[in-house]
Amino acid sequence: MERFTVKAIQNMLSDKQISAAELFDLYSSRIADYDQSLNAFITTDIQPNAAYMSDDQDQESPIDSALTGIPYAAKDIFCTQGIKTTCGSKMLENFIPPYDATVVRRLKKQGAVLLGKTNMDEFAMGSSNETSYFGSVHNPWDIERTPGGSSGGSAAAVAAGLAPIALGTDTGGSIRQPAAFTGITGLKPTYGRCSRYGMVAFASSLDQAGILALSAEDTAIFLESMAGFDPLDSTSVEEPVPQYSQYLEENIKGKIIGLPKEFFDGSLGSAYEALIAESIDNYKKLGIVFKEISLPNIGYSVPTYYVVAPAECSSNLARYDGVRFGYRSQNIEDLDQFYRTNRQIGFGQEVKRRIITGTYVLSTGYYDAYYLKAQKVRQLINQDFARAFESVDIILGPTTQTAAFKLGEKIDDPVSMYMNDIYTISANLAGLPAISHPIGFVEDLPYGLQLIAPHFKELNLLNLTHQYQKVTDWHQAMPRLLKSSEDND
Ligand code: GLN
Repeated sequence: MERFTVKAIQNMLSDKQISAAELFDLYSSRIADYDQSLNAFITTDIQPNAAYMSDDQDQESPIDSALTGIPYAAKDIFCTQGIKTTCGSKMLENFIPPYDATVVRRLKKQGAVLLGKTNMDEFAMGSSNETSYFGSVHNPWDIERTPGGSSGGSAAAVAAGLAPIALGTDTGGSIRQPAAFTGITGLKPTYGRCSRYGMVAFASSLDQAGILALSAEDTAIFLESMAGFDPLDSTSVEEPVPQYSQYLEENIKGKIIGLPKEFFDGSLGSAYEALIAESIDNYKKLGIVFKEISLPNIGYSVPTYYVVAPAECSSNLARYDGVRFGYRSQNIEDLDQFYRTNRQIGFGQEVKRRIITGTYVLSTGYYDAYYLKAQKVRQLINQDFARAFESVDIILGPTTQTAAFKLGEKIDDPVSMYMNDIYTISANLAGLPAISHPIGFVEDLPYGLQLIAPHFKELNLLNLTHQYQKVTDWHQAMPRLLKSSEDND
């Protein structure tokens, strides 16, 4: 099986080597053949939008834009008109949205074709995809391991060649961590860069839509179609959207990368450290200058996040009561019991844990001690980054603590699961754009490198990653997959 980049597919379509309908069929049959062992998709029985599928090669395509006929997958957190959107939860098992999320609508308008909705941790809460009501996703590099979470379905699908590119969301690391665990490129844009309208809310001040792809170039092509101000999302920002893909060849010589000493305190394994050292050397060869910096409050990121995110989730998820939204129990005795039963059955363990924690930190008497304190620390973390970016263009660090861990290894230990995001969460707290790109393998498992940029400087991240990917080929390594029918051989 060959994995095609979006760029390659654009060329194949324009050379008429393949039609949009053939492409759709190709990916649909790959999903049918291979997804039983990955469980990357929740919904696949999607009718391709006929308007983009003109098989008649002589006929003008009705929509003539960069993405016409490009298949993609979307995390099942994005509302899709007429197509089930479960958010990985029993609560929304049968929810069919009457509208598209803005990013989905924009991609549709550009001609992109939705292949399926991908599996995810329930309401995007998790780092391993094990909290999904629809079962865990498996990592295509090792079926016994997690692909990471919460956008693990999107990551597994792209890594395995079941979709050329996919949408994900990142509240604390959910694009970058699964990208690292599956050997692909994952971008979390600046908070406010892509509209959150129609994206099921987890923690509204942290959630951001982004992309899981095979290359920085593909990421740039999709980002320029998705990003931009949306009057339907008051937190989206009116900032011009560059044509990212046109600037990827810009010279990066002389750019300064900061290495926060707090990220390199000796706690990474030596094999991962060696890969990072090698990638720093590669960047040096490209003319990048390195400088040690400090982010003194970064150590408080995980505890701060686990106050702010549950607080916001407890309020966002209050709407799922079985009346307006969500699972509705048929055994109604009284109203209290009705709400209780709906939420008890509709939500899984992790979601309940977050709601309880969030309600606690927002309650009278604890609000000042926890929630308000966390907001203050968040501000200090913001200031650390602002100070650092006075002297560097980009900050570099690990994406994860380790390579993909085994399914089941951490699921009963929430604190060790939460620590997975130790390197990624600070970018969400500060609203900064960040990317993870592959830098090599240890014992056949991929590792990623994280780059963080100032607000709205996605181009710097894409530019650097693209140049890196021109001189390395880690991003081209592909896992060997077994057809579902061969699994038991
Ligand atoms: N792992 C983090 C959490 O469980 C982040 C999830 C995310 O980015 N959606 O909250």
